[in-house]
Amino acid sequence: MKSADSDPLTMQRVVRSVCRMCHGGCGALVEVEDGRAVGVRGDPLHPISRGYLCAKGLASVELAYHEARLKHPLRRSGERGSGQWARVSWGEALDEIASRLLEVKDRYGAEAVVFAHGTNREYLHMVHRLANAFGSPNVTSPGYVCYLPRVIASILTCGNLPIADYDGGPSCIVVWGCNPIDTSPDEYCAAQLLRALERKPRLIVVDPRRTWLASRADLWLQLRPGTDAALALGMLHVIIEEGLYDKGFVERWTVGFDKLRERVKAFTPKRVEEVTWVPAGLVEEAARTYASTKPACIHWGVKIEQNVNCTSAVRALASLMAITGNLDVPGGNVLPSPPPVVRFTEFILRHMLPEEQRRKMLGAKHRLAELGSTVPPAYVVKAILEGDPYPVKAMLAFGTNPLLTWPNSKRVREALLKLDLLVVVDLFMTPTAELADYVLPAASWLEVDDVAFYFFRSGYVMARRKAVEVGECWPDHKVVIELAKRLGLRHAFWDSVEEYLDYVLSPSGMRWREFAELGLLQAPLRYRKYEEGGFRTPSGKVELYSSTLESWGFDPLPNYVEPPETPYSRPDLAEEYPLILTTGARSPFFFHSEHRQLASLRRLQPDPQLEIHPEAAAARGIGDGDWVWVETPRGRVKMKAKLTEGIHPKVVSAQHAWWFPEAPGPEHGCFESNVNVLTSDEPPYDPCFGAVTFNSLMCRVYKA
Ligand code: SF4
Repeated sequence: MKSADSDPLTMQRVVRSVCRMCHGGCGALVEVEDGRAVGVRGDPLHPISRGYLCAKGLASVELAYHEARLKHPLRRSGERGSGQWARVSWGEALDEIASRLLEVKDRYGAEAVVFAHGTNREYLHMVHRLANAFGSPNVTSPGYVCYLPRVIASILTCGNLPIADYDGGPSCIVVWGCNPIDTSPDEYCAAQLLRALERKPRLIVVDPRRTWLASRADLWLQLRPGTDAALALGMLHVIIEEGLYDKGFVERWTVGFDKLRERVKAFTPKRVEEVTWVPAGLVEEAARTYASTKPACIHWGVKIEQNVNCTSAVRALASLMAITGNLDVPGGNVLPSPPPVVRFTEFILRHMLPEEQRRKMLGAKHRLAELGSTVPPAYVVKAILEGDPYPVKAMLAFGTNPLLTWPNSKRVREALLKLDLLVVVDLFMTPTAELADYVLPAASWLEVDDVAFYFFRSGYVMARRKAVEVGECWPDHKVVIELAKRLGLRHAFWDSVEEYLDYVLSPSGMRWREFAELGLLQAPLRYRKYEEGGFRTPSGKVELYSSTLESWGFDPLPNYVEPPETPYSRPDLAEEYPLILTTGARSPFFFHSEHRQLASLRRLQPDPQLEIHPEAAAARGIGDGDWVWVETPRGRVKMKAKLTEGIHPKVVSAQHAWWFPEAPGPEHGCFESNVNVLTSDEPPYDPCFGAVTFNSLMCRVYKA
């Protein structure tokens, strides 16, 4: 694929790149005139997205040149959160930040500096490298409830993250806990699923909401939010009891099958119906369909991770893939080999972090979060506010908006206000950035050269090519490299972004410029690799029963416990808070807390939305489009009611991460409709990851 075409007469250029308005990684052609991007369209030659580009992708130019875009570094000049800023040069800002970080390190230890990141503008590995080189064990992000549990619990179970092999022609597709058509999550692009659906496979959707996909499914399992692990255990029960599993595979390639069989005995379809509200007959039918329609893949999503059963849900689903013989087969769930780039674990220089520092990681008792080097944010907030187990004094935040995305937003605000130093690197002045001491302008995807998909486990990386420059915005990588120099860490970094890119690509024998021309680097797709070398687990087999988890004091088998705030675990709250609230519903037009200032997208979704069943609405005098209060024991927020029969009458679903860039700062309305005002950061957590519960809370709803 040619990286760019130019017309010398019109001064027009088309740059071949990769969109990063969300995680989808769609190929994009950026039209540039006189050094300015004027349009973006889907790249028909891109092997994965094949010309697909969603509304967010089409808004990329609008984002790049938006009038509210941060364009130069700012230093706070008034009270914290007063909105008073002084423009400073990059040199001044980075010199001052470095000296203040070193001051905190001298006085309180490197662990008093927390490095935070968000959805990863492909900078995540740089942030981890910087933290390790600096000596802090504390990197925090939403990763503890998003993606990392799937990665790490899968590695423990079967050695790698199983990916739905859409191009391998699945005859049955199970979409569980995500809405890929709207969101292109993690390593998937919506176009892959849409293409696979054209072949008319059996489709099973597990979702409390009747999404577009659920309405087209052969089987829609409308489970009670937060009960995914119980449902998966029920399906395992049916498959094992009815002998529908792949006996040859189980015998040769798994350990702990008998113990799993014992564990799932209790999860009869009848009991599972009581727990999940999915009729027993439907549980049986889904289990039989999945087990007997070969090949079958499961596309799992973030919703299985967002409660106390996080690790169990991932392991139960991985067990389903394994015992039905759908692991690493064409059209099943494949375990891709990595492309020839420096491995993430090597890149982040974990070995540079002294053992005594590693032991200080906040929340390290959640061993799988510790393995993923990710501190659950509740521990950061506690350390800042209470000095427990030690004080945290500074935070360097890359592309993250904790006021919107961490649980219990009001407590998060208290914590951020208490920091001695808060530095935010971002595209816009967010409510979190408003509380910072320094705000540094980040480059959007149109403005960076990068190895895209470096963190993902899809088996390939892509060249994201810089098309334009905007203001004084810098790629996150450059911010890290230049800051590292001032922190005395030059030895662990590079002189330029291009040198960094050359390093990442070094195992391929290619330099950045060659890769930029090539566009894509992929390991050959091979199936049933385990037949040659086994699975990459301690036993070389799929560990249905995990001795590793057992040795760390965790349950070695998947299980289900009732989340802490449901009508069953807290019947005392049921009268006051009679509805079940699931938070985190995505809009196809935004990416978490991003993009709400983009008029073309906001027009399509102007207000925060709460889905509620017409019966539940009528009982409260609520009409479609009415503003309503949603209230939990932590607080209340206002949303617009969307009446739909596609949700259970006892459940409501709220979109997340809403703020109003047009509203006055510093808050920009970040407590008006932000569902994390409603969530709790209190234990119990998932024991292995420290996951809090976002998808199963109790609430009441009434007209505003
Ligand atoms: S799905 Fe994501 S990556 Fe693809 S075009 Fe849309 S915003 Fe861009």
